[in-house]
Order: sequence, then structure tokens, then C-alpha cells
Amino acid sequence: AHVATDKTHVRDVRARHFGGNLRLSYSDPVMLMRGWRHHLFDEWGRPYLDAYNNVPHVGHAHPRLQAVAADQLLRMNSNTRYLHPAQTGFAEKLLTKLPPELSVCWFVNSGSEANELALRLARAASGGKAMITPDHGYHGNTTGAIDLSAYKFNAPGGVGQPDWVELVDIPDDYRGAYLRGDPQAGEGYAAQVDAAIARLTGRGQRLAGFIAETYPSVGGQIIPPPGYLQGVYARIRAAGGVCIADEVQTGLGRLGSHYFAFEAQGVLPDIVVLGKPIGNGHPIGVVITTPAIARAFEKGPEFFSTFGGSTLSCRMGKTVLDIVDDEGLMQNAQAMGERLMQGLAGLAARHALIGDVRGQGLFIGVEMVTDRDLRHPATRQTSYVLNRMREERVLIGCEGPDNNILKIRPPLTIDAEDVDMLLDRLDLILSENGSQP
Ligand code: PMP
Repeated sequence: AHVATDKTHVRDVRARHFGGNLRLSYSDPVMLMRGWRHHLFDEWGRPYLDAYNNVPHVGHAHPRLQAVAADQLLRMNSNTRYLHPAQTGFAEKLLTKLPPELSVCWFVNSGSEANELALRLARAASGGKAMITPDHGYHGNTTGAIDLSAYKFNAPGGVGQPDWVELVDIPDDYRGAYLRGDPQAGEGYAAQVDAAIARLTGRGQRLAGFIAETYPSVGGQIIPPPGYLQGVYARIRAAGGVCIADEVQTGLGRLGSHYFAFEAQGVLPDIVVLGKPIGNGHPIGVVITTPAIARAFEKGPEFFSTFGGSTLSCRMGKTVLDIVDDEGLMQNAQAMGERLMQGLAGLAARHALIGDVRGQGLFIGVEMVTDRDLRHPATRQTSYVLNRMREERVLIGCEGPDNNILKIRPPLTIDAEDVDMLLDRLDLILSENGSQP
């Protein structure tokens, strides 16, 4: 029984020696010791379906990544001030996935760092400082990235909204000002940028740009209406700003239909930010931009990151991109996403708690409400469902300003049996007393 004692000890040491504002998932936290594809195994070896973690994009414990890491660590691991074909190889592979206008890369260690650099690039290129961003966004844990993350700066005890940041509504077509099916929705939300620019210029501030998660995730797994980013980008550019697409959650084929979400919105960003899945767990962030923006930034001091773009990181990143191609994972995301969406629509027809099912590929949100007409958020029931799913050994998350949106975002390896298992368990739990609106 030593494993059970270990778990108690681990919880105890965490409680005493880790920051108190570090959250543990689930009322009965899980201790996970091993992984394989989209499965995880706890301290007793019990299996869980990982339908939540987007970092192990190509699956947990991928043998090709293990082999690449072992091989490179036996050779050497160094920084970007020496030549190495692994570094250029990663850049070349990544750029095959991006429009030709985006051709200059920087490698860093996290999504936060990548957004931090993107902000510096936007400021260098525009000569401005101020930024516009949708409400409830998240771009990272660093000082600059927090200032761009309404989800954190507006939270209780948060640092508050900086005077150089203007918010626009999240383009939520389920509970926002413009609803799904309204042909004006995209343009309606985009037009809010005009007022935000006017507020900035009214204060004598100059615009640096706009940043958004291309599909807002922490804001509630939102799929912006068609035309939204086209309308936003046109306005930002007319005001001299730069458009940043944070593709940390949506990139690398997760949507099934497109490799990046900006393609689905029909826009070409000036700066693309990548993180989480690109290292499959190895810490990597990437910023890709145009030669013109790169040149503006290059006028400043050298940009260097000790670990960013290390030989090992570049081999890991390149191998992740290769695996997505070789294993047809984008196609799998499309097929499994459709299967999940169909199954969830079936559940919505039978369970009144489900107010909305939305998603594309394996980026899915299920919004829970106590009243379908009034759309009251079912926060308590969502927490019940989440924790019961964990008891049934299916790991999913919850998001949104009211914590009432189930977040389904598995590794791209998920297969039909596991999709069906998830739907079966969710059906069972939605029938229980705790899930009644
Ligand atoms: N951008 C988005 C959209 C994210 O979801 C995250 C992480 N949740 C980040 C940036 C920050 O990435 P990291 O935690 O790697 O710094």
C-alpha cells in the first residue's frame, strides 16, 4: 500500500511547500504515473482517458520522441549561437505549414515567453504601446502577458486592467450581443474595435496592435462567427497596428479542417504564437512573423534565449510536426471531432442541462445551463459532471467566466472506442440527480 501513502505524502508536501494559488484539478485529485497515447495510469495502474490535455498533442510517451530525446542528449544540447541543422530543420519544417509571408522564426521556452516577444515585436513595428484584446483571454504568466490577459488581471486579487490595454467583447455567439446565425455577428463584434481605438487615441495613446487566441479557449471554447477576425484585422491595420494570433491552443491540426485557426477565419496574421503542443511536453514556444516586422525589431539589441531553440528542443519540435503528418493526426482530429460532436448533439437532445455544443475538430465546448431560454450558467452541475467523469476515469476540463463549459480537448490520437466511452459515461452522469438543471 506504499503508493497510497506516497499520494498522501505528495499532497501534504504540496500543501506545505507549493504556492497556495496553484490549483489542483478535481475534488479528489489524481496522481498520474504513466501515459500511453491518450491514456494515463494512476498510482495503482488504473487507466484514465485523457480527453483534456492538449500538450501531449501526438499522445503521451511517444516512442519517436523518446528516441529523439535520448539520441540528442547523448550527442550534445546547446544554444542558437552555434550552427546546427536541427535548428534550421525545425524552422524549415514549421514554415511549410505557414503562409509564405510569415517567414522569420524565434524560438523560446513557453507560450508566455512567445507572447511577451510578440508584444515587443508589435511595439517595435508600430511605434505604439497600446494593445486591444478580447475580454476573458489568456496569454501567459509573465508580467507583460498577464497585462494582456483579462482572465487574470480582472480576477479577484488580480493586477487590474493596464491603462494601455483596451478590451472588446469576446465574440461569443451563444450568450453575447450577436447570436449564432446572425449574418452580422462577425462584423458586429469586430466593429467594437473602432470604439476601443477611439478610446485609446482619445487618451493620446498610440496603438501597437491586437492579440487574441484565434478561438478563445479559457473564455469558454468559443468559435468566433465568420468574418470576425477579417473585420478586426482590417481596423487594426488601418490604425497602424499589428495583428497577433495566439495559436497555442488551436494550432497544429487540432481543428481537423485547418492546421491553424487563423486559416479558418480567412486571415493572415502579422505574428503567430505557438506553444504547448509543439513540444508535446518539452518546453517550446515559437514566434513567427514577416520580414518587415523582424527588421523593425532587429534594430534593437540582440534577442537571445539560453534554452530557446536548443538543439534538443528543435529536434523535439520538428519530430512533433513530423508525427502529426506521418500519423495523419489532423485527419483523425477531423473524424473524431465529428464523431464527438454528433454524439454530443444526441446527448443535448436528451439532457436539458446542455445548452450549447460547439466545436471544430478536437476543440470542443459543451455549455451547461439551468434554463435553456434564460441561459443561466449551471456552474454547480458542471462541477458535478466534471468530478463524476473523473470518478469514471475520463479526464475533461471546465472553462468560461462562469465555469459552466465542459472543455473536451484530447490528444489528437483519440480513437472511436474512446470517443464512444466518453459519450457513454457522460450520458450516464447527465442522468444522475446532481446533473439536473
Ligand atoms: N496562450 C494561450 C492561449 C494559452 O492557453 C497558454 C497556456 N494555457 C499560454 C499562452 C501560456 O503558455 P505557457 O503556460 O506555456 O507559458
